[in-house]
Amino acid sequence: MTAFINARVIDAAGSPPIDCATVIVSGSRIEAVGARLDTPENANIIDLKGKTLLPAFSDAHTHFGGSDRLSRPALGGRDITYDFAYNSMADIRWGVTTIRSAGDFMPDIVSFRDEVISRQLNAPRILTAGRMFVAPGGHPIDTVYSGSEAIRDNACVVCYENTDIESEVKALTEAGVDWIKVFISTLNKMNYPHPVPRIPRAVIARIINASHKYGKPVMVHVEDLRDMEEAAELGADSIEHCIGVGSAQPYIPSESLLNKLVGSGVYVVPTMSAIKAHDGMLNGAEPVFPHLLKAVKAMHDAGVKLAVGCDSGIPFLSYGECVHIEMELLSRAGLTPMEVICAATKGNAALFGMQDHLGTIESGMLADIVILEADPLEDIKNTGRIMLVMKEGRIMFDRLLNASA
Ligand SMILES: [Zn+2]
Repeated sequence: MTAFINARVIDAAGSPPIDCATVIVSGSRIEAVGARLDTPENANIIDLKGKTLLPAFSDAHTHFGGSDRLSRPALGGRDITYDFAYNSMADIRWGVTTIRSAGDFMPDIVSFRDEVISRQLNAPRILTAGRMFVAPGGHPIDTVYSGSEAIRDNACVVCYENTDIESEVKALTEAGVDWIKVFISTLNKMNYPHPVPRIPRAVIARIINASHKYGKPVMVHVEDLRDMEEAAELGADSIEHCIGVGSAQPYIPSESLLNKLVGSGVYVVPTMSAIKAHDGMLNGAEPVFPHLLKAVKAMHDAGVKLAVGCDSGIPFLSYGECVHIEMELLSRAGLTPMEVICAATKGNAALFGMQDHLGTIESGMLADIVILEADPLEDIKNTGRIMLVMKEGRIMFDRLLNASA
């Protein structure tokens, strides 16, 4: 049993911060939280005077077999990316204890996920879409992943005219995925501005309907506001990205779009860090990041649910660290530090369907905890000043206790 004492606690459950707080962790769970609680006699006491304790973060959009470096394969399985080890360590070191993989090699990502669950591996808990539904000749299979047969064979379902959508969804479900991922995009990042084919609207509808029939939520990749509206109309559970690099007007969300996003309850994962990192890299495309900032603010003001994800695993997006960049950019778009922190913890947990046991510092919740050396409510950049990371009651990263030993 561990008792953290004298902490400033941000519970992310909606309360103002608690000062001089005690948090008692027993096994994998948080047993009690409150100001100046009595500590059990047998507890290992950790004094957090001057420090802030909050729920661990999550990344709602990653490719776990990807790489932030151009020198590595764009996407791979366990052997190509050293058993996802580097990416796991980076996530944990940055306080990211849950990730949603938005397209990865099968069966590798599912077996890895299961080994994390059974505690054979120290890594973030994973939800995964496994294979991505893509159009022949389309994005990303014939744009950024062009020429990679391994990616096509292991990480994609290519939707030809005669593809039996329902049996593909069923097969993925039986193979153990948590989500279904599908692309709506004609953007050609390799030969801009010449468009690539996309999955037709009727087929997207079939994919979403079949997924829901088998109890799987659907994440839909879009790159502009028109495609976003289509995704919301068709019943997407989360919409990935928003205004992508090289995307066309309009850049201001219409009343109709905002109503559909709010009315459907869909989550939007704007991946601002990815758009910012790649903005200006496409020859002939105008910068879009200033438009994205305004669009995110408009969605937030309208009450759209925003989730925190990075697209880590694509070039220049560092695992774990990018979650902190994403939080900073969301705050630049107009969210308060408290709103940003809640989005990256409780909000993402709700997107994952895990809100009953993850994402807040409350009695009964899993002890996924981050300790910061400075208060992120004063400066959102302080989320990156991590002293200790706990996942399910186990210390996974520590420069607090070791430093004082
Ligand atoms: Zn992605």
